[in-house]
Amino acid sequence: MASPFFKIPPHGQGISIENGRLIVPAHPIIPFIEGDGVGPDIWRAARPVLDEAVRLAYGGQRSLAWMEVPAGGKALAELGTPLPTETIKTLARYKVAIKGPLTTPIGRGFRSLNVALRRGLDLFACVRPIRWIPDVPTPVRQPELVDMVIFRENTEDIYAGIEFQAGSEGNLAFQSWLAESQPEEFEKIRFPETTAFSIKPISRQGSERLIRAALSYAFEHGRQRVSLVHKGNIMKFTEGAFAAWGYDLAAREFGSRIYTQRQYQQTQAGQGQAAAETELKAAMESGRVHVNDVIADAAFEQVLTRPESFDVIATMNLNGDYLSDALTAQVGGLGIAPGANINFDTQTALFEATHGTAPNLAGTDQANPSSLILSGQLMLQHLGWAEAADRVEKGLRAAIALKTVTADLQRLMPEAQTLSTKAFGHAIINQMQSL
Ligand code: NAD
Repeated sequence: MASPFFKIPPHGQGISIENGRLIVPAHPIIPFIEGDGVGPDIWRAARPVLDEAVRLAYGGQRSLAWMEVPAGGKALAELGTPLPTETIKTLARYKVAIKGPLTTPIGRGFRSLNVALRRGLDLFACVRPIRWIPDVPTPVRQPELVDMVIFRENTEDIYAGIEFQAGSEGNLAFQSWLAESQPEEFEKIRFPETTAFSIKPISRQGSERLIRAALSYAFEHGRQRVSLVHKGNIMKFTEGAFAAWGYDLAAREFGSRIYTQRQYQQTQAGQGQAAAETELKAAMESGRVHVNDVIADAAFEQVLTRPESFDVIATMNLNGDYLSDALTAQVGGLGIAPGANINFDTQTALFEATHGTAPNLAGTDQANPSSLILSGQLMLQHLGWAEAADRVEKGLRAAIALKTVTADLQRLMPEAQTLSTKAFGHAIINQMQSL
């Protein structure tokens, strides 16, 4: 059987970059990775929705020229590796791609295929918009107040995977070096014989490019606040430095377009709280973006108790991992949350369903395809195809408002009708066609 991979659609054209901006042809070649587990189920529902949205928006003048690229189980079966080098090269070449979830094969040299993909393409920002879709059941009372975009650093932190297993040679060498060169630090290790280590690299460059992207996003999308979320009260040289570098960068590169919490604190110290509040209010009314920082544990409390005070969040890998899933739960769960991994310097972007492979649902046509569909919607926005993106969102909202949903949502909406994955895709298409 001929391989389905890397087939360039005859009418497709490559996306290019000019002066740092995407040049999107009428029929851009978009590589896709179907994914493992429920990946094929949700892709079969999502792709026709995206195609139809583009057809309806541009009357056939534009289309998405899909090209399948291998990764995960399909790649392993056909090519003997779950992540072929050619896949990374193709994603880098065509700039914008979309993927379903991937299983990490145990004991085959990859800690996680997703981490390897992000690393291979240096996709340093994981961007997760978190917004409630009316009628989606949620555990909070006012989900409509949640409207945030998380920028999570993707390439550093303990995700770098530098670990020393307890009792290993590397671990012993690390401990001897520490005992010799930093005896006071070594003393802090409570049980040396059975201690394992994870190293947490956080760099100025890594922090700055992520925070720059978050600030630029805030300006481009009319957002009012960028919050740097960190645990710098404990990890001063890593998490604390992230916030400090963020403030420095904001002042250096965005100057009078922002108002920082540092400025607020200075005014507060010199002239009192009321003066600082007046200054902050005036700055925000004049269109400046407020840059503040929030300690991670307080952030978890405040996104629940006063979600309206968060807008864009910039944070490191682990905090971002926890925070994005916690916030997703606030608006109805992983089945509907979209995501993108982007390198804003090379303009390479990989849009993805944020949930895993849901092996219990694989091949049953019961999974919720919304996460992949809404990731496709983000992709259309990224291409500058706002009219098509808008149709996807409206179609999906209308299908849910009619109380026709997949089983995961129906369990929490007893009055709703359960649709299969594919039928839910059709329901969205029907709604888009009648807009
Ligand atoms: P999971 O997201 O696959 O499943 C968690 C729960 O959510 C399960 O009950 C599942 O049935 C449900 N669920 C997930 N997606 C759903 C959907 N679209 N519709 C309805 N229900 C859905 O997480 P897991 O079980 O921890 O991981 C399973 C596999 O997925 C692992 O191999 C893991 O490495 C991988 N994974 C991949 C990604 C990715 O590719 N981005 C992300 C997370 C996990």
